[in-house]
Amino acid sequence: MKSPLSAFTQLLFIFIINILHHPIEAASSKTLPIKSKISLNSTKEIPIAKVPFKKPQEEKITIVIDAGHGGDDFGTHSLGSPKYQEKYLNMSTALLVKSFLQKFGYKVLLTRTDDTFIPLDKRALFANDKNSRLFVSIHYNSAPNKDAEGIEIFFYRNQECQQRSVQSKQLAQYILDKIIQNTNAKSRGVKHGNYAVLRETKMPAVLIEGGFLTSTKEMEKIKDPTYLKSLALGIAQGVQNYLAKEKILAER
Ligand code: ZN
Repeated sequence: MKSPLSAFTQLLFIFIINILHHPIEAASSKTLPIKSKISLNSTKEIPIAKVPFKKPQEEKITIVIDAGHGGDDFGTHSLGSPKYQEKYLNMSTALLVKSFLQKFGYKVLLTRTDDTFIPLDKRALFANDKNSRLFVSIHYNSAPNKDAEGIEIFFYRNQECQQRSVQSKQLAQYILDKIIQNTNAKSRGVKHGNYAVLRETKMPAVLIEGGFLTSTKEMEKIKDPTYLKSLALGIAQGVQNYLAKEKILAER
């Protein structure tokens, strides 16, 4: 007895054979008129005009991440033992941010890739030369008051280039919002800061102070890789949100 399944299998078989016999016609008959049928054994070259047009890939947006300090300049450090030096935490965070941003489809360049000190003006020049869309500098904080804690982000207010100031402030706010959302850390707000890397760069630029190494409570969190990861993700998401908003405004 013939089962309904074998009838279906036969139909499927005929369909597959048909497709194999006229592969190009089957794949593109809806969009491209093909006059000659090309079989699998054909050695004829496919005319260029009949190859479906492939849109060239959009060029990736470049973002420069700056791990603060390096080499002899270790930045600040934790008070307890073992001592955590800021320059290493900056680098660990920068590398995490880099990997998240790359996953989001951006091209990421670091001002330093190892434990060497790069002069501040050279960090800014690097971002300018690479035509970076954004500049994000990563630091950790310290204060004589051991209870001081929280995250603050700086931008440079410049009357001569108000647009960049406004954009930098917006970028800072987007990043801060995401970091706080991810880490539940205390927000110290977005502030003006006259830092060389912010002053000398030509694109929207921010400097993140990711927490106080002098606070025992905050240091406990910062030394936890899971916490650092959520902080870094917040930075990357803030960048992504800022660029998405910028794109919508540009398309209006
Ligand atoms: Zn620093």
